[in-house]
This record gives sequence, C-alpha cells and structure tokens, in this order.
Amino acid sequence: MSLQIAGVGKDFGKQTALSDVTLDIAGGELICLLGPSGCGKTTLLRIIAGLESASRGSITLDGDDLMQQAAHQRNFGMVFQSLALFPHLSVEDNITYGLRLRKMPAAARRQRAAELLDMVRLPGVAKRAVSMLSGGQRQRVAIARALAIEPRIFLLDEPLSALDAGLREAMQIELRELQQRLGITTIVVTHDQREAMTVADRIAVMNGGTIHQMGSPIDVYRRPADKFVASFIGQTNLIPATWQDDRLIVRGSLFDPGQAARDNQHTSPDSHETWLSIRPEELIVLDNNAASPPGATILEATVRFIRDVGASIEAHLELPANDNQPAQSLVALVSRDKVQHLHSGDTTRIQLTADCTVVLET
Ligand code: ATP
Repeated sequence: MSLQIAGVGKDFGKQTALSDVTLDIAGGELICLLGPSGCGKTTLLRIIAGLESASRGSITLDGDDLMQQAAHQRNFGMVFQSLALFPHLSVEDNITYGLRLRKMPAAARRQRAAELLDMVRLPGVAKRAVSMLSGGQRQRVAIARALAIEPRIFLLDEPLSALDAGLREAMQIELRELQQRLGITTIVVTHDQREAMTVADRIAVMNGGTIHQMGSPIDVYRRPADKFVASFIGQTNLIPATWQDDRLIVRGSLFDPGQAARDNQHTSPDSHETWLSIRPEELIVLDNNAASPPGATILEATVRFIRDVGASIEAHLELPANDNQPAQSLVALVSRDKVQHLHSGDTTRIQLTADCTVVLET
C-alpha cells in the first residue's frame, strides 16, 4: 500500500521536532528514515503509527485519510528498539497476542505462529519462554509478532541496534529478504548509515526535523545534496571552494566542475562560497613521475601516513596552509601498486576532476 505524507510538522511546546515533512512511499517500498539522534525520525514514525498526533499536515494510505484513524484501527505492524516482548509468555503466545485480541481460534493461531516462525527462520521454539532466547532470536520473534496481524504497513524503530555488529549485519540482510518476499511497504528508523544502505530502496536523510535528501542509497552516496548529507553518509573529503563566474577557485587554483554543477549554481547565484565533496575512493593521487594532464586542476599535498588495513589502504594527505586557508587533511583510497611510491613526508599531487567531485549546496 502506498503512503503519502504531506507537510507534516510536530511541535512539543515551543520546540519544533518536525517541520514540513513531505514523503511519498510506493507500495512494497522499504524506506529508511536516517539521521542523527534528535533529528525527528522516531517522532515521524510514531505519527505514522498513530501513537503521536501531528501538529499539522496530512497522511493518507492509498488515498484514505489516516489522521482520522486511531493507532489500533490502522493495522500497522511495529517493532521497537526495546522489542516490548512479554518475557513471561511463550514465543507462540507472544506472536499470537494480536490474533487472540482479534478472536482468532486457537488452532488457527498455532498454525499461523508456526508459519511465521518458519518465515523468520526460527522453527521449533514455539513453546519456549522468550526469556530463554538469544538477542537475535528475540528480534525474530518481535518481527514475527508484528507480521502476525498481516499489517498494512510495517514500521521498525532501530530494530537491530541492540545486537552486536556481526549479528546485526546478518539480520539486516534477513530483514531485507523477508520484506522483499512479503512485498510489504516498510519504514525503518535508523541512525546507522550502513544499515540504511543495506536494507533501503530509498533513504530519507533527516536532520533538524527536516528531510535533507530523499533518494536511493547510491544516489545519496554519489550525489549528496548538501554538506550534511555528504558527511553523514559514508566518509568524504570536504574542500572549501569559491565560485568565480562559472568556475571554482580551489586553494588558489581554477577548477571547472562541469556543466551539471554550473547549472545548479545558476539556481542560487548568491551562494559564492561552497564545498567540494570527494569520496576517498574517487580522490585521484597522481603517480610521482606522471605528467599533469593538460588543463587539469592539480593540488600539491603532503603524505602524512599510510594506513594499511589489509583489504584497503588509505593514504592520509595534507593540503598545506596558505595565506587564506589552514592546512587540510584528506583521505584517499589507493591501490597496493600505488602505495609503494608513497612515503610519509613526501610531496605528492592530487587531481580534481568534474567526474569525481560533487559541488554541494551549503
Ligand atoms: P533518537 O535517535 O535519539 O531516538 P530521533 O531522531 O528519533 O532521535 P525524536 O525522538 O523524534 O528524534 O526527537 C526529535 C526531537 O523532539 C528531539 O529534540 C526530542 O527531544 C524532541 N521530543 C521527542 N519526543 C518528545 C516529547 N514527548 N516531548 C518533548 N520533546 C520531545
């Protein structure tokens, strides 16, 4: 089912937790609300669930006004960070709790619990007490319980944050596979960008009660809309730059950021100061004896140290201070071949190209 969120805002007294959030979620899509602590993601999820009222705006489900429906009428499945399982009840009684309230007969309930336990890969534990399960198993029970009522929308608030790193990554993949198999429209709240990149069709990157950018994981990674998104999603190098007509001045050198960046610049002619975002894997470190390509923008940098963690090698570089700017650290991912020619204290050169650089809205 599709969900339309239009102009939703929420004030707690004088504090605005959400301002003017608009989001269209297609049927079967998995959306992550991603942002730092306090950005408003839980508040938005609770408004969608009906556990909190909005101060303004509207939410419709396949065109029907949701604001008129109480939480229990919405028939949404929810998994909270705390899981909120009943520890004294068996796995089966936890899973079928909502079905009992809906007066489903006992035999049908048992069968449904068995199907759901198979679905979340936890067969054979129906009669066990929840207190006897591991963290990952409890997580699966909470998911099975939320799905038992055949919810119209599946909502999860930091569902995996209590798990250790390895289990968490495995559960992210399981959650995604399950959601795709069921084709259920799902919203996941997380502050973990890797988790969002793993599970989401699209990510809503939030900060300060607003959505900064909405896009596919690769979109928000490769084409971050602003400085906040660029630094929140993955690692990046942010270099200050100044527009001068249709070029940029970067640490005293002229740089052509390409037509697309120029087109964007024309929409906000007043913002002359800006930032370049260059991902470490996109930062080009030239070979020592390579000639500079004609017309290229080349900056000199000092090699500070090399961090070799086996699977990848990072060259930590520094652009030297000049009259106007302090020294700036950069990180480049380099190949094992290239790193043999880089030594701490050496001077090297980096090349800026339009392809590997994103000019950000500030
Ligand atoms: P976290 O990841 O820490 O849970 P979040 O992004 O989910 O953060 P919210 O819990 O939605 O953020 O909170 C957004 C803002 O609204 C915060 O500044 C928070 O202090 C405030 N807030 C949330 N709930 C209430 C409440 N019931 N009363 C007053 N202020 C609240």
